Amino acid sequence: MSYVENITRDGETTTVRIGDASALATLRRGKRLGATVTASPDGTITIVRTALHLAGEDVTETQVTVTLIPDAKPAHLTKTQYEDLQRIRLAGDRARRLPDGRIAAAFWRIPQTAAKRLYDRGFVVVRTDDGVEVNIAGLLAMAAYEHPARTTRPRGWHSPAEAVINTPRVQRMHPYQRNDRTSAAVCTCGFRRTLDERAYAVVAKNGHLGEVLTAALAAA
Ligand SMILES: [Zn+2]
Repeated sequence: MSYVENITRDGETTTVRIGDASALATLRRGKRLGATVTASPDGTITIVRTALHLAGEDVTETQVTVTLIPDAKPAHLTKTQYEDLQRIRLAGDRARRLPDGRIAAAFWRIPQTAAKRLYDRGFVVVRTDDGVEVNIAGLLAMAAYEHPARTTRPRGWHSPAEAVINTPRVQRMHPYQRNDRTSAAVCTCGFRRTLDERAYAVVAKNGHLGEVLTAALAAA
């Protein structure tokens, strides 16, 4: 996985292309310096840092904004991949790449082909000491797996219960029909917002995803 990194300082933007390990290092440096870090549902990470400078008696403020745009949308994990990433995270420093290509996560061994897929899709990075860690894409994919948020289909035109008339002339029901456009953004974690239009529910769903992805970066 590679990223387009945009660095905006004093209204000027420089753009570079960086790899997984650099993106993780950039994120960690930002967090160490007290930057505000957010993730959006498309996987873009925004790091905003405000620095104060003393110039004589004046204090000036500069803001540096870094965006990391991944070259691929957040990937969906299979159950096995999710469990393997969880094992790597739990193993911490004890997660290592073995000479035969397998990943040792404490007592667990992730087979070669599965391990290769985790590297290829950019879910994990291998440090120079052969330690393996879950990187940005992996953390975001894990959070997305834990929060399969969706929106419900609006009921649309329907006959409310009180409008049902006992008559063979069915067309008489027509004036009683109502258009119910409400839709809910729901997630398995218990998140639920009911809104007047599905478009608003989609915004609420994306808001929820953004929150859980942002929270996931705290583990980076
Ligand atoms: Zn959720």
